[in-house]
Amino acid sequence: MRTPLIAGNWKMNTDGNGAAELAGGIASRAGEVPDVELLVCPPAIYLTRVRNAIGDASVGLGAQNMSCQPSGAFTGEISAGMLTDIGAQYVILGHSERRHIFGESDENVNKKTHAALAAGLVPVVCVGELLEEREAGRTAEVISGQIKGSLAGITAEQISTVVIAYEPVWAIGTGKVATPEQAEEVHADLRKQLAECYNAEVAETVRILYGGSVKPDNANDLLGQPNIDGALIGGASLKVDDFLAIAAAGAAVAQA
Ligand code: PEP
Repeated sequence: MRTPLIAGNWKMNTDGNGAAELAGGIASRAGEVPDVELLVCPPAIYLTRVRNAIGDASVGLGAQNMSCQPSGAFTGEISAGMLTDIGAQYVILGHSERRHIFGESDENVNKKTHAALAAGLVPVVCVGELLEEREAGRTAEVISGQIKGSLAGITAEQISTVVIAYEPVWAIGTGKVATPEQAEEVHADLRKQLAECYNAEVAETVRILYGGSVKPDNANDLLGQPNIDGALIGGASLKVDDFLAIAAAGAAVAQA
């Protein structure tokens, strides 16, 4: 049984007080959803403030990106060791905004994934196709290529701790959500690919999140799919009520 992971990607939103308030609001109500794991990924500059606001509550802390380098002359970068040092447990890697706005390649994501695992961080590795790739019938090929490239050299032992997020680019921040059937088809393919690359037993342990306009009113149907093990949420993660309503949908599935 895979515990659903409900993760909020706050992107470049909030200010210091807003981040602390949002994290505090989620932390104070985390007990309402004991069957899911909650994770918040604030802007890096607010990680410490958010960690303090979370306190002892059962809410994980993650970064939205990191360097693949451990230290040195890399102005503006943050290493995996720095993230663990301030109490982060997770890091989102290869988000579509990193890939498409900042030109991150599968090779970059792969180096970061290795660096994150070496430092003891759980990487949330994102993959997803563009609308034109879906319309050209290339979704499976694109996702498979991204997974192979991003996870090259990751061992069977390591893969069980990795989280994968399927985020169709055309559904991120657009309000256009993949249908539960469209999402499940890709998730099932991803799990099949993991079984082929590693083995069926290991593939069953890997959590595969869906991301792309997840909201309280579509969460039930998405999270109810057999291979969808949680959500990576942008816009709706900035509101305590919406984030927890999505988590409640995950908890209901976990209890069923
Ligand atoms: C995201 O940023 O990962 C995301 C899925 O955003 P949204 O939920 O706003 O589509």
